[in-house]
Amino acid sequence: MPGVIVFYALLGWLLGVIVNAIADSLPLSRRLRRPYCPTCTAPRPQIAWSAIIGWATGTSACAYCGKPRGARAIVVELMGMAGAALLYLRNAHLAALLPAIAIGFVFLLIAVIDIEHRLIPHIVIFPAALALGLMQALDPARGPIKTLLGGLAGAGSFLLLYLLGEAFAWLLARVRGRPLDEVAFGFGDVTLAGLIGLVVGWPAVVLALLVGILAAGLFSLGYLLVMLSRRRYTAFTPIPYGPFLILGACLVYYGGRGLFQSILLP
Ligand SMILES: [Zn+2]
Repeated sequence: MPGVIVFYALLGWLLGVIVNAIADSLPLSRRLRRPYCPTCTAPRPQIAWSAIIGWATGTSACAYCGKPRGARAIVVELMGMAGAALLYLRNAHLAALLPAIAIGFVFLLIAVIDIEHRLIPHIVIFPAALALGLMQALDPARGPIKTLLGGLAGAGSFLLLYLLGEAFAWLLARVRGRPLDEVAFGFGDVTLAGLIGLVVGWPAVVLALLVGILAAGLFSLGYLLVMLSRRRYTAFTPIPYGPFLILGACLVYYGGRGLFQSILLP
């Protein structure tokens, strides 16, 4: 029904506006604020709360400092709009659609913050883990055991990787006689892996995290080759892992078994 698709597109758009508002305020001022200009902290007029409406009405640039709003805000609103409409077309049953939209909202928010700030805030992860974990545990198709096992496997395996990385960094720092500037991946990735485990459950968490690690590895390799070709290679250029883990989680959660069977068994 076209009317219902429009409704979900508008809902997704609204969620995109909220993702932008949280991503603009939480990492910088540690609290939620109504949409404001991150450069000079002047509040935005209500007509410019949505980047799309702001762009269409010529009010997206800050009225005080003149700083234009970046492309991210529009991209996020468009992703929210398209994402919610596509999820409705994929499965219109509310019991499947509403969790799918809630999970997309959380993943989009975490990806935006991690890309812009190299940070996965606990203040986002822990409430999300509680809400989404409870939601998945109450889903009769999943149940509490698979949900909890998924979360433990995700956080546990990444905690091990994190500790190995710390040990490696400590060893390397001793050999080189000075500490490393940055570690390959941080504790935020451990908490994100736990959240992904709660969302996709056991045993899908194994596939989701492997796909994420593989995607991050391929991206790093491509990045390394580009840097080498420009002779700008430096060891240990860290990339944010979060968006790749989220990519893996989305492929497994939204694509499901069908997607991987169609890839592995063409
Ligand atoms: Zn401003």
